[in-house]
Amino acid sequence: MERVKSEKLFSRAREYLAGGVNSPVRAYKAVGGSPPFIVRGKGAHILDADGNEYVDFVLSWGPLILGHARDEVIDAVKEAASMGTSFGAPSPFELELAQRIKQAFPSLDRMRMVNSGTEATMSALRLARAATGRELIVKFEGCYHGHVDSLLVAAGSGAATFGVPSSPGVPKEVVKSTRVLPYNDLDAVERTFQREGENIACVIVEPVAGNMGVVPPLAGFLAGLRELTAKWGAVLIFDEVITGFRVALGGAQQLYGLRPDITCLGKVIGGGLPVGAYGGKKEIMELLAPEGPVYQAGTLSGNPLAMVAGATTLKLLSQPGVYERLEQLSSRLAQGIEEAAQLADLDIRLNRVGSMLSWFFNSGPVNNYADAARSDTVKFARYFAKMLEQGIYLAPSAFEAAFVSTAHNQEDIDKALAAFRSAFKGL
Ligand code: PLP
Repeated sequence: MERVKSEKLFSRAREYLAGGVNSPVRAYKAVGGSPPFIVRGKGAHILDADGNEYVDFVLSWGPLILGHARDEVIDAVKEAASMGTSFGAPSPFELELAQRIKQAFPSLDRMRMVNSGTEATMSALRLARAATGRELIVKFEGCYHGHVDSLLVAAGSGAATFGVPSSPGVPKEVVKSTRVLPYNDLDAVERTFQREGENIACVIVEPVAGNMGVVPPLAGFLAGLRELTAKWGAVLIFDEVITGFRVALGGAQQLYGLRPDITCLGKVIGGGLPVGAYGGKKEIMELLAPEGPVYQAGTLSGNPLAMVAGATTLKLLSQPGVYERLEQLSSRLAQGIEEAAQLADLDIRLNRVGSMLSWFFNSGPVNNYADAARSDTVKFARYFAKMLEQGIYLAPSAFEAAFVSTAHNQEDIDKALAAFRSAFKGL
């Protein structure tokens, strides 16, 4: 597969953009080589600058649950754009998206739209601290909540890829009030509360971890967090930026039957445009300006293009059969990957919740970051290149999830599985 044009574009991009990219993992540092430059996408397929086509399991890192350029979404965005791209004033489009979110997430008495998942988690922390008058934050190792200073400690995603658990530039003072515990370890949470529960403002968690590969919560872990936070008067924040409208219409909180105090959303709710949202209990959300004293704002927040892309996406997702279809395709993909590994005598561990999945090499069971970190990243890089050559586009890191969309079909899954069988051979 030739990628001459992409290579040229990348070398030019490096003269203008830091590292040639606008988000670090895109640069392929973890897997070597240079990234394909994507020029268009339709359904489950993307095309690079050299005309190579790929079946896409990255889907813009999760948002495109309906696939690329779904007609209804594009039409809605075009119509909205023709009426103006930003008002910086209230508009009915914000209301429609908010109503659709609330329908699926009844725990969001009130919400606020922002422009990214990072903004959502950053604002949720401020609010949790204001609501409790406390400073400490509890997070879990390998969970990524965006590049918020206080959460950029033992973070997953790009930070895991580069083995930089906390970034230079994050003040020690800021990180001092963050406690990092192993995912799925309720005893550790309990001990932390016993030690300093009166100072803990919140526990923030990915209810299904998706940034150290996919790591589902063990039975009782999330319910235990709910109980402990309630007992100690701390705010429970579910970061559902990935899982919201992904693992079920009502996200992980629907799947596991829990009600957090604050939920952070992003990705799917923007239908491929830049959006985040956070919301929760009325008494907490009322602390936000202008009703309350907690400041948070945004020039482009509630942007009409993003709002209609999101609302149209959520409307399509609420049609019957959507999640059943995602489940069917994803389980077939997962099963096929496991079979391909068996055929090649490879030891893999596949974790999946709905249409988010990942597989680890030589790791044993993966229930937390230490388990995930045992995964053989050299093996990953070798098979990753073979998959790309065969037109299968996966995230270029052993610690990212793969996603399936409603636009994938059996043929796409079969093509991917044939590639897996070939790539796994001789690993
Ligand atoms: N929270 C989670 C769980 C995420 O996976 C991400 C991004 O991948 C974020 C927050 C940050 O979102 P954004 O990249 O939109 O700032």
